[in-house]
Parts: sequence; C-alpha cells; structure tokens
Amino acid sequence: MSFVDKAANQLVDYKNNSKNDSAATTGHGTPIGEKDATLTVGPRGPILLQDNNFIEELAHFDRERIPERVVHAKGAGAFGYFEVTHDITKYTAAKVFSNIGKRTPIAIRFSTVAGESGSADTVRDPRGFAMKFYTEDGIWDLVGNNTPIFFIRDPILFPHFIHSQKRNPQTHLKDANMFWDFITLRPETTHQTMFVFSDRGIPDGFRHMNGYGSHTFKLVNAEGKAVYCKFHHKTDQGIRNLDVQKAAQLASTDPDYGLRDLYNAIANGNYPSWTTYIQVMTMEQAAACKFNPFDLTKVWPHGEYPLIPVGKFTLNRNPENYFAEVEQIAFSPAHMIPGIEPSPDKMLLGRLFSYGDTHRHRLGANYLQLPVNCPFKVRNYQRDGPQAINNQGGAPNYHPNSFNGPDGDSRAKALNVPFAVSGDANRYDSGDEDNYSQSRVFYQKTLDQGARDRLIANIVGNLKDAADFIQERAIRNFTQVDAGLGQKIAEGLKKQKRANL
Ligand code: NDP
Repeated sequence: MSFVDKAANQLVDYKNNSKNDSAATTGHGTPIGEKDATLTVGPRGPILLQDNNFIEELAHFDRERIPERVVHAKGAGAFGYFEVTHDITKYTAAKVFSNIGKRTPIAIRFSTVAGESGSADTVRDPRGFAMKFYTEDGIWDLVGNNTPIFFIRDPILFPHFIHSQKRNPQTHLKDANMFWDFITLRPETTHQTMFVFSDRGIPDGFRHMNGYGSHTFKLVNAEGKAVYCKFHHKTDQGIRNLDVQKAAQLASTDPDYGLRDLYNAIANGNYPSWTTYIQVMTMEQAAACKFNPFDLTKVWPHGEYPLIPVGKFTLNRNPENYFAEVEQIAFSPAHMIPGIEPSPDKMLLGRLFSYGDTHRHRLGANYLQLPVNCPFKVRNYQRDGPQAINNQGGAPNYHPNSFNGPDGDSRAKALNVPFAVSGDANRYDSGDEDNYSQSRVFYQKTLDQGARDRLIANIVGNLKDAADFIQERAIRNFTQVDAGLGQKIAEGLKKQKRANL
C-alpha cells in the first residue's frame, strides 16, 4: 500500500479542489457560532439542555449506522456506462439494447458474501457482482456473482446455507463443522464449492474477475417471442487471482485491498471494463434439455449454447460519498424492465421477494427514492411513509381516476406475454438432481493439473478443521465427482492428521 496513492490522498485532493468559505450549520441550516464547545454554566459546566447543537450532533451520531446487509456486507461501488456493441433485438425489446452504440448509465457494487462490513477483501468467498442500469424504462438490476452458478437450487435453504457460513451461535466464531456439515449434507453445493476452492475463489481485487447474471432469465422481443437467457461479463483486464499466502498477508496488512485497488484504478483514469455476452436457449430447447436449465447449480455448456456478444461496460467514476452511493445502493433482481423477465429458476424467484424485503428493512419503504436508487421517472400511486422525498405533488393517489393519473403502458403490456405452467403443487426436494456431472467436467476438463492440485490443497486446508464424520462424508461426495479427487483429499487429510500428532 502506498501513502501517495489517490485513495490515501483523497482528503488532500478535496482540500485542493474546494473553497474554505462556508460556515458550519446545524441540520436545519442555521450558522453555528462556537463549533467546538458545549453550552455550559460556567467553564466547568454543567451542560444546558437548551444546547440544541450538541443534542442534535449526538442524536444524529447515535443513528449513523443502518443494519448492515446480512450477506454481501463488505463491498466497493463505482459508476460508469454500458454500451451496446452487437444487435440482440431479435431476442429482446429491452430499450437498453435497442441500438448499437447506445449508452446507459450504470452503477456496480462488488462484494464478498459471508464477512461483516469490516472484514477483509481477500478471503476465499464468492464475490457479488451487482449491476444497476438506469434505463429510460426504469431501473434494471442484474444482481449476480463472479460465479455462473450457486451452492443451492431451492431458496428455502438459503438462510440455512448462510447461517452455516457465518458465525457459530455460541462461540461467535466461523465454524468448519457448520460449513462442511451443510455442504456435505446438500451435495448440490459441490459444483460451486469446487469453484470457490479453485484459484478463482480469491480474485485479485474486483477488476480481474468475470461477472455472471448466474440465473436463467427470459428475454422477450418486439413480436412477443420469448427465449431463455444467461448473462456473462468477461473482464477486459484478464483473470487474475491471489495465491493463498499473498491473500492471507493482505488480509492482515491491507484488508481493504479490493476497495483501494478499484478506487485508485478509477481515480487514475485506468477505467476497468467488461465485455457482456448472453447465452440463449429457445423454449423448445429448454423443454428438451437433458438437465434442468433453471437449476442455478449448473452452467449451460458453451459448446451447446455459445456466447453471443452484446456490449461492454466501463467504470469511470468513483462514488462521491460511500454511504450515500454504496451503502445505500439497493439492488433487486425484481427490478426488471420490459423485454426482460424471470424464468422458473426457483432461486431467482426467491430472490425477487427477498431483496426488496431487506431494503425496506434496511433503508425504509421509500428506499427507491434515494438518489442512487431512483429511476429517471416514477409515476404511480405509492404515497407517504418515512422520508417520502418525491411524494408526487398533487397527482391523484388512487386508480382508476378521471384526473390524468398514470395508466397502463401499451408497449409494456404487449411485451408481457402469457406463459403456460402446469404440474402438481407439491414440495419437491431437489437435493439429488445430478449433483456431480458438471462438477466432474470442471475437475477433469476445465482445470489443468496444477489447478487440480491447488484445489485439493485448498479443500484439505479447510476441511481438516471439521469433525471426522463430516470429513468422511465430504470424501464420499468428492469421490462421486472423481475417484482420484476423493482419494487425494483423503490422503491430504491423513497427512494433516499425522502432522498434528
Ligand atoms: P468450456 O470449456 O467452453 O468453458 C469452460 C469455462 O470455464 C470457461 O468459460 C472459463 O472461463 C471457465 N474457467 C476456466 N478456468 C476456470 C477456473 N479455474 N475456475 C472457474 N472457471 C474456469 O466448457 P463448458 O461450457 O462445457 O463448461 C465446462 C465446465 O466449465 C462447466 O461444467 C463449469 O464447471 C465450468 N464453467 C462453465 C461456464 C459456462 O458458462 N459454460 C462458465 C464458467 C465455468 P474463461 O473463459 O473466463 O477463462
């Protein structure tokens, strides 16, 4: 870490670029005379209750923290634009993709998942890759990760999965038994667990990793024809990961490494960019697909569903205020625009509810009115509530009405094509839906020998702290991926035990 980099020098730059000619004020905007002394009876006190400056200062300070995100609490944000480079209007009528060269302002938040807001950026964990597009049709949030898949495929397991990654309720420590117990009891986690324990489990900051929409989405074109789709963002900086030793060293010497790296790159004009692709599956292909195309633990193989280039996005502005623009930014997969819709992906459907719900808790019912979350135009019948900044003046607050209140939009209506659903309503445990075949391809074909060895070492280094019966279950599961993988993990664990004797 250098003490002359842009991030370290931010306050000096601020001073050089601003004037020192304004008086301090109270929250209600009146000038304060003596800034650094309470109002007291005599120089030794006591303090008078009429010292409103002091009361206001403390009362506001007491309320400075909002609840941190239950997941993805530590993150870095930046702003920029998305530019269309290829025509995909045959797949979607979404205005953001309407013509080549079109630019749409975006915001991005990168994050780790399990750690608290002060935790280190260089831990082994998936990275959040959340994008907000400020389109003329409203906000579109594509809230993904740096992995094309996830640990589970049914959202009812999500709180349990996250609990197992967080802290033990008694010791308040991270707990290898909790982690590996859940992972091994739900073997659909195997594919993502292998991603996270591979080299890409510790990216070098946020600029050198890919992003993925992860879920399956539905695109609808101007004729009302729909296809399913996945989004991929490949880093133009090239993939770069940190080795385990370097990551551990940075976690103690520069835990904010990822934030600093992104801030400095942008402040120095070294703007990071990514190239966006989609994969497309027709309705007929989805019906005939040999695996469940809505299963978030699986990728769509590139050979069968090739990447189609779409555009490129560039980050060229740092937040001017972290809390206002990054802590308060609120992404939701439910924020879609005409031409982009959900698929039956159960995890996506669970998230459609959960994100808005958490924002209403964290930021309040009017979180969409905060400047960083606010679309260009809102006309609806939602009114009042805490911090109602844009309460829509004298416009009617009920519908239908005879007074120029907003009504349904014919274009959005035409794009909202009906879709058929059928089947018996039931609770279907999806725990054993082919958990290993893609993990096997990943291990045997995607990784080279060096990457396989490091994967095994990383798994052993973590699994060694779990109870014996959990280790044995993990070995059984990894053996189903590849017999050699299971055997090497078993040998590695034995070696660890001997070393500890
Ligand atoms: P491909 O060979 O066409 O794709 C393999 C993909 O793996 C590439 O996109 C590559 O990303 C990515 N990759 C390479 N090294 C690693 C690594 N160390 N960790 C994570 N990802 C890596 O084959 P398929 O599409 O048939 O997929 C084969 C397997 O590859 C899958 O089972 C899955 O495990 C994995 N994979 C597939 C992806 C997909 O969307 N199809 C995406 C990512 C992984 P890049 O080009 O950026 O280097």
